Amino acid sequence: MEKQPSNRAEHLTESSSEYQEFLRATKENQKEPYIKLASLPFGAYELLQIEQSRAAIARVKDSAYIQSENEEIEDCFKSIRAKLLMKSNSDVPYVRAGFKHFFRVAGEDGELGDASELQTKFSSGSTTNSQFEQMVRKYVEKFNAKERILKEISSVILEKFKLRAVEAIKNGSLPISEELLNDRLKNLEIKLVDAMSVPFLGQASQQYGIQISSEFNNEELEHMLFHELVHILDGTTIIKANKSSEIRYDINHQKAGLLFIDYKNNRAIFEWLYEAVTEEIGSELAGDKPTHYPRERAMLQDLYKKGLSKEILYAAYFENYGGKTKPGSGETPIPQWKNLVKNLEPLGGIELLKKMDKEYRERDKKL
Ligand SMILES: [Zn+2]
Repeated sequence: MEKQPSNRAEHLTESSSEYQEFLRATKENQKEPYIKLASLPFGAYELLQIEQSRAAIARVKDSAYIQSENEEIEDCFKSIRAKLLMKSNSDVPYVRAGFKHFFRVAGEDGELGDASELQTKFSSGSTTNSQFEQMVRKYVEKFNAKERILKEISSVILEKFKLRAVEAIKNGSLPISEELLNDRLKNLEIKLVDAMSVPFLGQASQQYGIQISSEFNNEELEHMLFHELVHILDGTTIIKANKSSEIRYDINHQKAGLLFIDYKNNRAIFEWLYEAVTEEIGSELAGDKPTHYPRERAMLQDLYKKGLSKEILYAAYFENYGGKTKPGSGETPIPQWKNLVKNLEPLGGIELLKKMDKEYRERDKKL
């Protein structure tokens, strides 16, 4: 009889070869191709096709061939116009916002006209192909310029972040090791993604690094990057959903910072707390004022007022799963989290956090 595979989930430590292999493979294979796609600005692909067709026409004198290339150019314009128009009718707010964003960028320097005029003209169908091409070209140029700026500024910001983090480690306000800091920041990729294709301003994960939306302001970039960099340093619990799984990607973060994934109900728990603390630590390190997540930070302040210890909270935020413990030894692989739960007891226990979480998610639904 064949041995049945065990279906139990298993925890992995960060240094385990299995997890390291997972990180390497996901980076290489781009498990989430949308990041790759979003790093190509809207219209860039179609522009390239149009240019290729034009180059082919210039090379060949055969009229039948020219006719078919011209049709291809026409199709490109049709397809990209349709893509843009579709966004304006979308039910998804960020997709709809992408429509406006396109004209805002195309009209930014006023060379092609005022943004709202461009939008109205396009929506009424009176933009010619050549006018539309200029707008797309402008959009792609602006994206490329932003990409160069991000590359330049982010390396300076990253160095500053490292210095500040080392200082904070030394004075005890950042409970991680310098080794972990260097490890996580080593080979970190900071990528610009098209604001028209993503629902966020910034995003960070250990697998894919940091993505910054092309909507960013130069003045806000440092604050944003510090926030995302704190995400990169957070403590994780890594879980392999199926112990005997041969599937290379069957690995996930069960805990990131203070966020937990409830796989059964497919939802994130304590996301507000995670973001509030991330924003707090990011601005502490940057030496500026927190700006993002005001509602979440107000909830956190409420907990502090009730007696939550910031030190204990931070220790839990940065706690990495500690590996297997001996059964019956009384040891736990997550002592800092246990400590936090204990600290919460006089405030209403973990139930208080769960209650706040429920209220938070329900209010979100109404919006
Ligand atoms: Zn965040």
